[in-house]
Amino acid sequence: MVVTSQLKYDQKNVRKYHYFLLLSLIQKHKKISRSQLAELTRMSNTTVGKIVKELIQDELVIESGQEKGEVGRKAIFLEINPHGAYIIGIEIDVVSVQIALVSLNGTVLTKRQFKSEEKGKPEVVLDKVASEISLLLEETDPKYDEKIIAIGLTMAGLVTWPEGKALMVPQFQWNEVEIKEYLQSRLMYDVYVDNHVRSILLAESLFGTIKNYKDAVCIHVGSGVGGAVMINGEISRGTCNTLGEIGHITMEPNGQLCDCGRLGCLQTFICSSELEKYAQVPIEEIFIAYDKEEEWSKNLIDRAKKYLGITIANVICMYNPEVVLLAGPMIEDYPILLEDIEQITDEHMWKPLKRTFKLAHSTIGKDSGVIGASALVLNEFLRQSRIE
Ligand SMILES: [Zn+2]
Repeated sequence: MVVTSQLKYDQKNVRKYHYFLLLSLIQKHKKISRSQLAELTRMSNTTVGKIVKELIQDELVIESGQEKGEVGRKAIFLEINPHGAYIIGIEIDVVSVQIALVSLNGTVLTKRQFKSEEKGKPEVVLDKVASEISLLLEETDPKYDEKIIAIGLTMAGLVTWPEGKALMVPQFQWNEVEIKEYLQSRLMYDVYVDNHVRSILLAESLFGTIKNYKDAVCIHVGSGVGGAVMINGEISRGTCNTLGEIGHITMEPNGQLCDCGRLGCLQTFICSSELEKYAQVPIEEIFIAYDKEEEWSKNLIDRAKKYLGITIANVICMYNPEVVLLAGPMIEDYPILLEDIEQITDEHMWKPLKRTFKLAHSTIGKDSGVIGASALVLNEFLRQSRIE
């Protein structure tokens, strides 16, 4: 006999499931009609109509421009109301801390920032974050305040999920910092904390260049090398929320000393801090010398390109994604790194997997940190329709 109370989906839950399912489909498709929603979900037109009415009443969805339907009838489309709810996105970075109010479609509405102090103590930085959020909210219309879903925070380093504890952030020398717990105790909102590469991958899949793909890998090259993986639309986290962290894969057992204390890690070949250490000049000068075809720099950058190509070929074998997203300051500031990258990758690719994937570049740009942080929250909000 089935005991009703043990059923996971009682009627109220089914309703909630359908509500967020339709909301996430509208988010994904940008513009979609009620009948298309009914077709996709195999729900009746009446049920879809009722739930859409609720979504419109809750101001999460709006009707948009009528267009002629196939049979000459006017069709009304539904889209996310960008001002239906808001998210506070925070990026803690070695240069600065950015705090922004972000709309549901990933647009930054207002932003504050302060400079990061080298070796800033966690409680000092987080107190400043909390007071900057209060200032940001004072500056904005109170109507925004009421509609804030939660706070998202993103940073480099190892962060546990969902506890939001920073286990290790080498840039700040933070260890075991309870970021989520600390901010939640100071502020009246839920807080989500994750690694910045995962949040960039989420942001690009919700708002950016890879929204039509379900299986994706992000390779992030900056002062370190990071990675994140999405399988069937869900971020893969692994046991310690570090799945995809490829920077410390050993590429040369007798290679250069990495800052992790081992030899020949992947990042010693391609990240800016390691190239600077090797060449003993700032990264800009390495690329200026490369433009002038100076031999030493050509060797260094060509080697970086080769290892980036090998990395792409390796992640294709590991995860078989539809798309590999290349992101991070090194990729954005020095596009020359991607010159011939398809060909280089091809040379190192296992034959059956050649040409099975696309390479994409991050498109969100300079606000990708705070938009990524807001994507963490939006993704959790929409996930309420997914079965655990
Ligand atoms: Zn290492």
